[in-house]
Amino acid sequence: MKVPMLDLHAQYEPLLPDIREALERVFASHAYIMGPQVKELEEKVQKYLGIKHAIACASGTDALVLAVKALGIGENDEVITTPFTFFATASSIWRNHAKPRFADIDHRTFNLDPDKLEAAITPRTKAIMPVHLFGQSCDMTRIMEIAKKHGLAVIEDNAQGIGCTWGGKMSCSFGDIGTLSFFPSKNLGAMGDAGMCLTNSDDLAAKLRQLRVHGENPKYFHKWVGLNSRMDTLQAAILNVKLDRLADWSKARRANAAFYDGHLQDIPQIQTPYINPDAVTIYNQYTLLCQDRDALLKHLQEKEIGCAIYYPLPLHLQECFASLGYKKGDLPVAEETAQKVLSIPIYPELADAQKQYVCDAIREFYAGRPQ
Ligand SMILES: *Cc1c(COP(=O)(O)O)cnc(C)c1O
Repeated sequence: MKVPMLDLHAQYEPLLPDIREALERVFASHAYIMGPQVKELEEKVQKYLGIKHAIACASGTDALVLAVKALGIGENDEVITTPFTFFATASSIWRNHAKPRFADIDHRTFNLDPDKLEAAITPRTKAIMPVHLFGQSCDMTRIMEIAKKHGLAVIEDNAQGIGCTWGGKMSCSFGDIGTLSFFPSKNLGAMGDAGMCLTNSDDLAAKLRQLRVHGENPKYFHKWVGLNSRMDTLQAAILNVKLDRLADWSKARRANAAFYDGHLQDIPQIQTPYINPDAVTIYNQYTLLCQDRDALLKHLQEKEIGCAIYYPLPLHLQECFASLGYKKGDLPVAEETAQKVLSIPIYPELADAQKQYVCDAIREFYAGRPQ
C-alpha cells in the first residue's frame, strides 16, 4: 500500500467537471486578472468567515506583507511572532524593514505561548503576529488582552487555519487583519498561488485594496509604494467551486484525526496532537511528537507512507536572521519541538485501510523499543 502525504488527484477527481465549466467562463471573458470571479470569491469568504472585508491577493506571503504595510509598520519597528512557523510569517515583517522578535511556543499546541509574550515587548513593538499553526487557533483571548493592554496591533497569520475557531469565534476575526493562503497544499488550495487579507476595518480594507495595486488611487496616482499582488481570475474561479466543499473537508480531517487519536494514543513513545478545549481545529496537519523521530521517518518512508517535518529549524536560528542576535537555547521549547515533530497524512480522502496501515507501521516501529 502507498499513502501519500496529500492526494490532489483524489481531491480533484470529483470536482473537475465543475472546475472545467468555471474555467470556460473565464476563457470566454478573458478577464484574467481581478475579474468578476475574484469579487465573487471575496464575498463568499467574507460570508464564510463572517468578516466585513476580504481583499484577494497573489499569495499568502503577499497577504502578510500587505497586512504589515497597511498597519504602517516599518523601519525601527518590531513585531512579535512565533519561531515555529513557515518562513513567510517572519519574512513579511523583515521585508517591510521591521524586525521580527520571537517569543517561545506552548509545548502542547505548538502555538505562541501567551505567558512568553509580554517579556518580548519593547518600546518599538507595534504588533503581535500569531500563527494558527497546523489549523489550530492560538489562545486569542489572552493574546487580544495583551495586545489591548499594550496598544499593539494584531495580524493573524491564518494561512493554515481557514475556518478554525476559538471560543466559537472564527479565526481572522480577532485581530486587525487576518490572512489566508490558497497554496495548493492548504485546506482550501488553488491550482497555483493565491492569498487573501480579511479585516472588519473600513479604513484598513481601503488601504489594503490600494496597496495590492502599487498603492495607486486613482489610477496612475500613488500615495504609497505598494505591491503588484492581484489575484488571477482563474484561481478565483477554481476556489469558488472548492469553497463549497471546505466545511465537509474540515469535518473529514477531524474524523481522520479521531481515528489516529484512537489508534495511536497508547503508544508510549509518541504524543498525539493536543487540541485546546476552546479550539475547533481544521487539521491542516496532524503532527505527532515522537521519540527517535528521524528513524521513525525513515521507517515510514520505507513503507511508502508520506510524512514531513514541519519545521526542522526554528526561524530565530535561520542564517538570514543572524543579525537579530539569537542563539541556540534562546527559545528552548521551539527548538526541542523541532527535533520531535512528524506530520502524517491527514487529507480528507484518506481511506480507513490507509489510516490503519499508517498506524500499524508506527506501532511496528516502536514494538520492542525502549520507552
Ligand atoms: C503557507 C504559509 C504562508 C505563505 O503562504 P503562500 O501562499 O505559500 O505564500 C504563510 N504563513 C504560513 C504559516 C503558511 O503555512
